[in-house]
Amino acid sequence: MLYTLEYLIDKVRASEKPYDIEKITAAYEVADEAHRGVKRSSGEPYITHPVAVACILLEYCMDTDTICAALLHDVVEDTDVKLETLKKKFGDDVANLVDGVTKIGQVPLNNTKEEQQAENTRKILIAMSKDIRVIIIKLADRLHNMRTIMYRPPEKQRKKALETMNFYAPIAHRLGMSAVKEEMEDICIKILDPYGSKMIEEMLDKHKEQRDTFIDIIKERIRERISDIQPPPTIEGRVKSVYSIYKKVYVKGKSFDEIYDIYAVRVIVSTVIECYNVLGIIHDIFKPIPYRFKDYIATPKPNRYQSLHTTVIGREGIPFEVQIRTYEMHNTAQYGIAAHWKYKAGISGRVAGEQRFDWIRHILEQQQDSDDIEQIADAIKVDLSPDDVYVFTPKGDVITLPAGSTVIDFAYAIHTQVGNRMTGAKVGGKMIRFDEKLRTGDIVEIMTSSNARPNRNWLEIAKTNEARSKIRSWFKRECRDENIAEGMAAIENEFRRNNMIVEPDFILDLARMQHFESAEDFYAAIGYGGVILSKIMHRAKDLYSLRHGENEQSSDDQTGRSYTRKRRSGVIVEGIDNCLVKYAKCCNPLPGDDIIGFITRGYGVSVHKKDCVNVLNSPASDKERWINVYWASADESDSYNATIDIIAEDRTALIADITSTIAGSRIPIRQITAHTLKNGNGNVIVTVEVASVEQLNSLIGRISKISGVITAERTGIV
Ligand code: MN
Repeated sequence: MLYTLEYLIDKVRASEKPYDIEKITAAYEVADEAHRGVKRSSGEPYITHPVAVACILLEYCMDTDTICAALLHDVVEDTDVKLETLKKKFGDDVANLVDGVTKIGQVPLNNTKEEQQAENTRKILIAMSKDIRVIIIKLADRLHNMRTIMYRPPEKQRKKALETMNFYAPIAHRLGMSAVKEEMEDICIKILDPYGSKMIEEMLDKHKEQRDTFIDIIKERIRERISDIQPPPTIEGRVKSVYSIYKKVYVKGKSFDEIYDIYAVRVIVSTVIECYNVLGIIHDIFKPIPYRFKDYIATPKPNRYQSLHTTVIGREGIPFEVQIRTYEMHNTAQYGIAAHWKYKAGISGRVAGEQRFDWIRHILEQQQDSDDIEQIADAIKVDLSPDDVYVFTPKGDVITLPAGSTVIDFAYAIHTQVGNRMTGAKVGGKMIRFDEKLRTGDIVEIMTSSNARPNRNWLEIAKTNEARSKIRSWFKRECRDENIAEGMAAIENEFRRNNMIVEPDFILDLARMQHFESAEDFYAAIGYGGVILSKIMHRAKDLYSLRHGENEQSSDDQTGRSYTRKRRSGVIVEGIDNCLVKYAKCCNPLPGDDIIGFITRGYGVSVHKKDCVNVLNSPASDKERWINVYWASADESDSYNATIDIIAEDRTALIADITSTIAGSRIPIRQITAHTLKNGNGNVIVTVEVASVEQLNSLIGRISKISGVITAERTGIV
């Protein structure tokens, strides 16, 4: 076994940096104890993994706390050791690093995501690790897992390779850690395209000897010409990474021969001036290929990479790339953000708070333009808006919500139906309250049930207009029947409290006053809370007494729109003689209809049709007030009001034909109104006084025969 405590401590000593060996040993012991008995897929004890991760970080000269956290990075998630214990034993820093690594390790990564989503996920991963060391540990963790990926089953290999390719390698690139990025990519491409990458390896192998000789000759020729530079520059020759060639061949579609920069020679010098001097010399020895020169010193890449690149061609006729840079640029290119610990900071150098980005200024000291510093700081700070929170679905989709949003907002952002059917929500596997605020990096899981429904108080909890309007429209639409019933019940209760009777035309008047097209819309609005009944009752009472005040005094007078009349003895009320009888205007019962009576407060008995909505929806508390009533034997002198709704083609003399038909039947007309419908038809509503249902039906029959009449129906709610 390679990764033992002894091996680790040797590495620590070899670094010659002032590490806290005792603390590192203690961290090793806690991890070793916690993972004891557990083996990796390779068959090695689990502890070899955290030790290997710690060793990678030692190469980067990361500080003591980072090394300790690396040793402990899997204990909180995989073993019984609690974060509290780590805090007590190793301090807040180590505990926070372990916690951070655990949390970003739990973020689901969506391998099928398009580029923008993947980019957002990467940004969030970086943003979640408030301390950048968290992401560096995570990268080392993933790098070691990829180095040992061959022990995992093939489908796991593929999944991990995709994740690494889509998320971790780009993060390493973003942080300028090109060594990590290249190693990850080279491992991944072998898994993702074994055949394609093998072809490239074979092509590279084929000319290995030739190539090595070629590179040696080039290096020697450069060395001769720059020997007067002191201290002597470092000259490296190499073949580019398999993946960088793979990309050129398979993604950009170049043939192997077309790739200029399979070979690369690197010249590392002490100063920027020397970089440009060396460039001049190179262009003097070899023939530069036009348009292949790039000055990343004057214009660094966003990840702070700096170098001069040029592609030249020698006597052998083989093109190759030359990179020229200072040692400092070289360190930044290899280690990126981690170069800070390797070359700048002391061993306990914590980078935190507002000073977090100060070191970037040091690394960029050759860079005087403050715009650039800001640009790079921003690139690393991640350009996520502080007014938003970024949360994940369990599948790894990123959902952006305004700060202060709750799981209700999240659920509706995913899908209206997810919101409408939500029964509960989990964040990081734990149930949370609906009013808890979400934080960036939360992984939110919504539980739904097909018979669940939104709650009205969600309207107050939800932060986004989207969620609120979806909740409102649910109550409006999906629940319309319920709202109508609720609205009706509310009106009925309120009217009864005020000794008023629900009359359809009066309700319609009220509805129109509130700008509703129909009584149903009005009821529905009361039901979902769009109209507050108590606010309109005052005016409703005034209107009501205006209508009824008139009627009670003028009894038989049937002028205007009034419908109530003093009744004659058409109905027998069971058990009560000579009581005041009133025909309910909601259903306008006629002799022959099945009827029932309701004992009103002060208005005697009101007679309804048995199937009238107001009867059907009557509350149980009113049960005792319903009373049996019967039609008395038909008496020609009795008459009743009935309203007929006629729809006809709009033509001249239509109304005249209707009125003369009614008059010809010797039936009095009490009221008639007419208007044109949107579709061009005419609508005539006529109220007549009839003696019975039979008389009414025969009249309707005659009206139906009038030329142009489409429908003629008795109205009333049922
Ligand atoms: Mn791990």
